[in-house]
Amino acid sequence: MVRGIVWFRNDLRLHDNEALTDAIRTCEEVLPVYIFDIRIFRGYTKYGFRKADRHRIAFIIECIQNLSDNLKAIGLKLYIRVGKPEEEIYNLAQDVKSSWVFCNRERTQEEVNVQDKLEDKLWTIGQEIRYYRGKMLYHTADLPFPVTHTPDIFTNFRKEVEKFVKIRKPLPSPMASDVRPISISLDFGEIPSLSDFNLSSEEGDIKVVEGGESAALAQLDKYLWETHRVKDYFNTRNQLLGNEFSTRLSAYLAKGCISPKYVYDELKRYEAAEGSNKSTYWVFFELLWRDFFRLIGKKYGNTIFQEGGTAGRYEKEFKEDWQQAEKWMLGQTGIPFIDANMIELNRTGFMSNRGRQNVASFFINDLKQHWLIGAEYFESLLIDYDPCSNYGNWNYIAGVGADPRENRYFNILSQARKYDSDGSYVKHWIPQLQSLDTSTVHHPSVNQVENYVEAMVPFETWRR
Ligand SMILES: Cc1cc2nc3c(=O)[nH]c(=O)nc-3n(C[C@H](O)[C@H](O)[C@H](O)COP(=O)(O)OP(=O)(O)OC[C@H]3O[C@@H](n4cnc5c(N)ncnc54)[C@H](O)[C@@H]3O)c2cc1C
Repeated sequence: MVRGIVWFRNDLRLHDNEALTDAIRTCEEVLPVYIFDIRIFRGYTKYGFRKADRHRIAFIIECIQNLSDNLKAIGLKLYIRVGKPEEEIYNLAQDVKSSWVFCNRERTQEEVNVQDKLEDKLWTIGQEIRYYRGKMLYHTADLPFPVTHTPDIFTNFRKEVEKFVKIRKPLPSPMASDVRPISISLDFGEIPSLSDFNLSSEEGDIKVVEGGESAALAQLDKYLWETHRVKDYFNTRNQLLGNEFSTRLSAYLAKGCISPKYVYDELKRYEAAEGSNKSTYWVFFELLWRDFFRLIGKKYGNTIFQEGGTAGRYEKEFKEDWQQAEKWMLGQTGIPFIDANMIELNRTGFMSNRGRQNVASFFINDLKQHWLIGAEYFESLLIDYDPCSNYGNWNYIAGVGADPRENRYFNILSQARKYDSDGSYVKHWIPQLQSLDTSTVHHPSVNQVENYVEAMVPFETWRR
């Protein structure tokens, strides 16, 4: 009996899933598995933040619920554990006497460590991991350069790929008729809840996206075919307020609920049916950024997580002043544009791209704090946290990225007046500013700021 274990990680979908599709093709019986890795779900970053805070964990739990439902619809039952994948899957492989573990390969260090450890253990029992790809638009094998020669400048990368490299068609979801579930009786386990990770939702929390493949496909469908918002993306993408100014696909892409190749395929289908314009192109352009940061992450390895970034040096003046850092994190700096964005992040796990650029620049260039503190805080809070996109963008703003032209400074007041000209965004997240008019809302007096800058929450609440 040829049995295959399919290890789901950041590919929480049935469509365009190379590992799942190949396991079903090659094996007589298939067992899908998801392990809530305790090092992520209960772990802490170097500076002591939760590695994944409540918004992202709640989102992932929904993703797993949906994955389990979608697998069930094709006759497969998802095996679930909370633990260390290299131990849980190794034990399972012994118990069910599988032949292989199928998984989509991860490329960043922590994730690679886990797959390497599992691989070593499996070899001791004569089994191995079969790796697949599924994170990017482009298949690395199709690129005109080896990963180690990925251009350091985004524009050069884009020019080398966008016109010359074909994006492969996404694979269809497997059908029930293709699938044979495992015939051994097993304790499949239960999906944990937030409280299993010592977390709970907090007053004022707002859910911005529903987790899972089904919701991801529906979101894309809505953005393209239902509302046609995609036709205006180029003009709306820098907005701040609401859910419709950009695709809101990032969390789905980060956890692999939707495949970037599928998004591209749908974009092309949309353009063929409804016409193309700068906006429809620009969604693809942004997805190229995502591939670019992933390739840079592969090219430079761990350096993206280090102080000197891919440049190898950090030349800015910096400090680690936790009182100031805390004000930034809590949205209590007294600068409404910064605070509104940070309050949004804390309450939803999401922030617009424009907001992220501004708060990161403010943290690094104005507060002169160490960029790694900010990056780790984002890592903890963001529902769409992706190691390469997060650290790649922080590298960029801190001026430690591979591109020599990097080093972004944002003038917060002029950005606020440009992108939130009537102040509705800051008033939405800081209702205490409601009565201010547009001339003062971004630059309130000390008295007006005191309306919302409260006594400091002890930092211990936020750190271990
Ligand atoms: C400091 C900082 C940290 C960031 N951290 C992350 C992160 O951890 N995860 C993440 O997915 N994005 C990150 N971004 C990029 C970007 O802000 C988000 O992808 C975007 O805001 C998500 O909203 P959306 O899905 O509506 O994006 P859209 O504007 O609709 O873009 C479509 C997709 O393109 C990709 N994309 C867009 N901009 C970027 C970019 N600058 N870099 C990489 N990919 C991009 C995303 O996958 C996004 O879903 C970060 C940006 C900054 C400045």
